[in-house]
Amino acid sequence: MDSEIVKKFKESGKIAATAMQHGARMIKPGVRLVDVCDDVEKKIKELGGEPAFPAQTSDNDIAAHYCPEEDDETVYKEGDVAKLDCGVHIDGYVSDNAVTVDLGDNSELVKASRDAVNAALKVVKPGTKIGEIGRAIQQAIEKYGFAPVRNLSGHGIGRFSVHESPSIPNFDSGNEQTLQEGQSIAIEPFASSGAGMIYESSNPTVFMVVNKKPVRSSFAREVLKTIEQYNGLPFALRWLTRKHGIGKTRFAIRELLNAGIIKGYPPLPDVKHGLISQAEHSVLVFDKPIVITRLE
Ligand code: MN
Ligand code: MN
Repeated sequence: MDSEIVKKFKESGKIAATAMQHGARMIKPGVRLVDVCDDVEKKIKELGGEPAFPAQTSDNDIAAHYCPEEDDETVYKEGDVAKLDCGVHIDGYVSDNAVTVDLGDNSELVKASRDAVNAALKVVKPGTKIGEIGRAIQQAIEKYGFAPVRNLSGHGIGRFSVHESPSIPNFDSGNEQTLQEGQSIAIEPFASSGAGMIYESSNPTVFMVVNKKPVRSSFAREVLKTIEQYNGLPFALRWLTRKHGIGKTRFAIRELLNAGIIKGYPPLPDVKHGLISQAEHSVLVFDKPIVITRLE
């Protein structure tokens, strides 16, 4: 990996970690989820980065992909297990990190995913089998009596790309493929007090372009023009409604979904609605790995 690219990844990671820490400190009972997400995105831009995807904050049994709309009045409550997931890009180089804030009595659950990501990072180096990373995660989480979420995984990160190969499992999948020097990956264990399996719910508020095609209506064309500025990276409904209004945006989103131009990513709850914690870091694979989202 070119040293200029390493530099950009490092800068990206530093901003992602700083913005996430800023957001995590805001998470208190009575605070609106949308205010935290807005502030995280604002912080990213202040620090010279761009969001690689919308800031997301998922509570309790929802593992990921809750992204409040502009008029969402939901607030954090006493007892919540609140995740905050945030990503940045610098010149396209993506970093991705997440943390869990415990507003109640679930410190063990939070520790389980944090220990798991640290255990996984300890075995990251060129030549490590992918399944070994999953095993480290699984063992760390099971030690606390919780279940790793099996149908969510870490992933490669690249230029203008949030999810690419390799997929990094959160359990020992037996995958014998090995990590390669110079790979950039995000490792993101989820610990669940429930099933350790999630499902796709409905009403996505995060979307991504999956297919470039012409569109018919002028509303959809106008909204698509805004979407194209995100360079193929995921975007929030809230970003569009603030610019185009709720009515026009919803109309356009429906058309773009129906035409197969964009895909939605709905919130992902645990099958048995157990509580879920998450921890995530992005790392560059070298003999001395660089955890780009770890602040010194
Ligand atoms: Mn993430
Ligand atoms: Mn991720």
